[in-house]
Amino acid sequence: MITSHVRSLYDYLRSALPLDAPTMLRIAASPQKDQRQGACNWTGQRYTIQLHNMQDTQAAIGVLVHEYAHALSWGMDADEPHGEMFREALRVSFASYTDWLKTLSEQEG
Ligand SMILES: [Zn+2]
Repeated sequence: MITSHVRSLYDYLRSALPLDAPTMLRIAASPQKDQRQGACNWTGQRYTIQLHNMQDTQAAIGVLVHEYAHALSWGMDADEPHGEMFREALRVSFASYTDWLKTLSEQEG
């Protein structure tokens, strides 16, 4: 249930804010040893977004929005992972998230 919700937002983000390369989403069903909640990596051919702690839907969604902003702003900030371009990407990702929430409430009537 958590997974389908998160995947729905992921699909929405990819259509609202297309990335410049293919992207893969990996969802861990149970917590990983890695202390981080998520990660975004560039393989040279595609982005991989990983979510590590899926116990709580709201937290997982927050992590997805954050990691998606990393993919959107990949390589744009010189040496600061959460620099100005990242923060702008996070702002637009969050705006898409609120749009997605509106489509959900419209579907529910
Ligand atoms: Zn980050």
